[in-house]
Amino acid sequence: MSRGIPRRSVLAAGTAAAAVAATGSLTATPAAAAPTLPNGTSLDKVLVIGMDGLRHDRITAAKAPHLKSLMANGTYGTSLLYANPMAATSSGPGWSTISTGVWPDKHGVRDNSFTGKNYAKYPGFLARLAQVRPGLSTYAAVDWKPLDTQGTVTPGADAKLVLDGDADGYTGHDATIATETESVLRYQNPDVLFVYFGNTDIVGHNSGAASPKYLEAIDVQDGYVGRLLAAIKARPTYASERWTVIVTTDHGHTDAGGHGGSAIEERRTFILARGPGIAAGARPVDTRLVDVAATVFKQLGITPDPAWGLDGKPVQERSTDPFDALQTSLSARVDETGIPAGVLGFTHTAPSGWSVINNAMGTGGMTEWRGWSFATDEFWSRTQRDQSRELNVRARGVFAVADSDEWADKAFSGTYDSTLVTPAYAVGGKATVKLDFTTFYRQEGSQSAQILASWNGGTPVAVTSYTSDVISQPQSLTLNVPSGATSVSFRFRYTGSNNWYWVIDGVKITAA
Ligand SMILES: [Zn+2]
Repeated sequence: MSRGIPRRSVLAAGTAAAAVAATGSLTATPAAAAPTLPNGTSLDKVLVIGMDGLRHDRITAAKAPHLKSLMANGTYGTSLLYANPMAATSSGPGWSTISTGVWPDKHGVRDNSFTGKNYAKYPGFLARLAQVRPGLSTYAAVDWKPLDTQGTVTPGADAKLVLDGDADGYTGHDATIATETESVLRYQNPDVLFVYFGNTDIVGHNSGAASPKYLEAIDVQDGYVGRLLAAIKARPTYASERWTVIVTTDHGHTDAGGHGGSAIEERRTFILARGPGIAAGARPVDTRLVDVAATVFKQLGITPDPAWGLDGKPVQERSTDPFDALQTSLSARVDETGIPAGVLGFTHTAPSGWSVINNAMGTGGMTEWRGWSFATDEFWSRTQRDQSRELNVRARGVFAVADSDEWADKAFSGTYDSTLVTPAYAVGGKATVKLDFTTFYRQEGSQSAQILASWNGGTPVAVTSYTSDVISQPQSLTLNVPSGATSVSFRFRYTGSNNWYWVIDGVKITAA
């Protein structure tokens, strides 16, 4: 690709003179090239650094002292992306997910054509901040042009640095972006910044994520991170400010280079955050890429309106999902020889208080999936690619799964019939009880999926059932508590043969 002379397009609100007058503490002249921002109004400040196509497991192999320092002093959560048919593991869907804080089935971007984008309903976080906190001084620096021209990141920014990529939109101006953002951080007073570095993706495509050149590219970008962190620390007002730094990526890369498909290496993403209230050294299993925007809002003291429909939660908030407690007791494959032996990702042992009824379950079949199992995204979706298991986006950490399709991949007799039973919850004196969870269900043939309630330990009664696909959606059922009932336990019963599967996660029961 050619590397033309960078041209910039700058949208500045306010004037340089006004910014200087209001800040009053500038010690040097801003670099001429940096756009001028309005003076900031917040002591809570957030810098989001996006690195395109950064395979997080390669950070370990790189020198990357600044990223490793952020990991030691911050919270670092890795997770997997969707794949098609929800969306490709490409930059358009990835950055849209990061910026909007919702999954592609809401923001509508499924590939780099951006066809179907719905930023009107699900705007990026800078656009949302411009609506709810217009006094914030916000800045975006990008050179993958669609992030500007398609409206993914820059709308709402008070000032933006947009460097022209090549005709096909490719990048190559990381050094310029680093220098000018460094200047903004040192000599102006921004509140929220989004900075994009793209060379990891370019090198990933050209040389592969397994190459030494890829590690060098990570180290170069790590150097930019170091300079931005130093610029923050050098601010005269640093001692009174509360800075959060978030680093993330839009997708992974194969060892040989490339992405867009459903390989685990292409689906790898992470969120790394350091700042007030964010635990040092934490490695939660329940983070997702949609959490970037939610973390930005949290660090600015903004409570998202439920009407925004965010899918993310702040990176410092842990899930209360009972299945995540099983994370440390997961096992390696037994019959699923396609899963690497080092991937620990399933168990049949239910969480404390929960049980699985398998007395009607057939015999034989794949050990891992004989009755309800508890599994991770990586373990379960490695069983078989491109059967939509990649679409389990609203499950986090460990989830419960009944998979008759995989169970039937080894000799078996009988049918799949397994029931997952919750603990008994007190409902005495309450009018209603609410069952919240996420469900991911694919229907085929005579499969059945039923939810039942047992009051005071009595005969379970059917509450609802699924008869068609539900692709990873939150569910909420509210039941009236019968008179005299003091407890309720719910059951999830799945029956089928060589059909599909049912995933349950994030179960929460509240009586009111
Ligand atoms: Zn790429």
